[in-house]
Amino acid sequence: KTATREFSKENELGKGAFGAVYKAVLADGSVVAVKRLFPTEQNVADFLKEVVLITGIKHRHLVQLKGCCVRDKQRMLVYEYAENKNLAEALWGKERSFDLTWTQRLNICVGIARGLSYLHEELQPKIIHRDIKPQNILLDKDLNAKIADFGLARPVVEDATQMATHVGGTLGYFSPEYATLGMFTEKLDVYSYGVLVLEIVSGKRCINLKSPVEDEIYLRTWAFRLCRENKLLDLAAKGLPTESKGDEILAVLKTALSCLQEDPSKRPTMSQVVNMLTGNSEFTI
Ligand code: ADP
Ligand code: MG
Ligand code: MG
Repeated sequence: KTATREFSKENELGKGAFGAVYKAVLADGSVVAVKRLFPTEQNVADFLKEVVLITGIKHRHLVQLKGCCVRDKQRMLVYEYAENKNLAEALWGKERSFDLTWTQRLNICVGIARGLSYLHEELQPKIIHRDIKPQNILLDKDLNAKIADFGLARPVVEDATQMATHVGGTLGYFSPEYATLGMFTEKLDVYSYGVLVLEIVSGKRCINLKSPVEDEIYLRTWAFRLCRENKLLDLAAKGLPTESKGDEILAVLKTALSCLQEDPSKRPTMSQVVNMLTGNSEFTI
């Protein structure tokens, strides 16, 4: 039970067209995040989908749904609370109080990969998230990555390629086959993950609202050049460590580029990505 007074501006964690997310304290003293949806027909339908899809799913790198609440037309989702906000805030938020170190960035990349690998390879039916981007990755108090926002997620039926009736998500993170044809398999998430990793390593956003596509290509070219020329000057200029960790950074960039291949069947699976990042992989681009 949450008191109405807790849904105030000062407890607001995030806000969107759907409603808002608030920090709240339950009767037992535990802190949670409550997503309160505007009572539109679409939201009521999406609410049910999200609840059905992720109820009972528990994983270190997925934000946990602890419960839900229906009161008249109000729909609320109660999640575990992530203390360090979302990854967009941590990477380039104006109010951020610290810059992520290289080790923290690498751990976040590995954590997201583990979460996605669980969704794609361990669950039955497997789940495609479809909206992987920094705003939907939360960070807990120890900076563990937690994948959030299952509003666009879909279960996979018999391993078939699915067609979206409405191509939802965020343009800069779309794979070519999703952007042009609306086709999606779990390789859509692998592609979005590749874009996300380039953002995590470079600290640059791939999305400039004026020309999203150009910026993703820019970031990719930047990573290609670094990998080809073994040049880490750009990173050094940004204050990232390059002497002792140079090889590690290049390995992560190469992994991201393998995720960004045009042909979805050539992209690695997320468990291959985990292996590539943690250094026990045979996979090459
Ligand atoms: P939407 O579907 O509108 O994108 P999200 O579920 O992504 O909604 O939540 C919007 C924002 O609210 C997130 O980007 C994050 O900043 C904040 N938020 C959401 N859930 C939590 C949580 N469990 N803990 C802390 N902040 C959260
Ligand atoms: Mg979101
Ligand atoms: Mg959403």
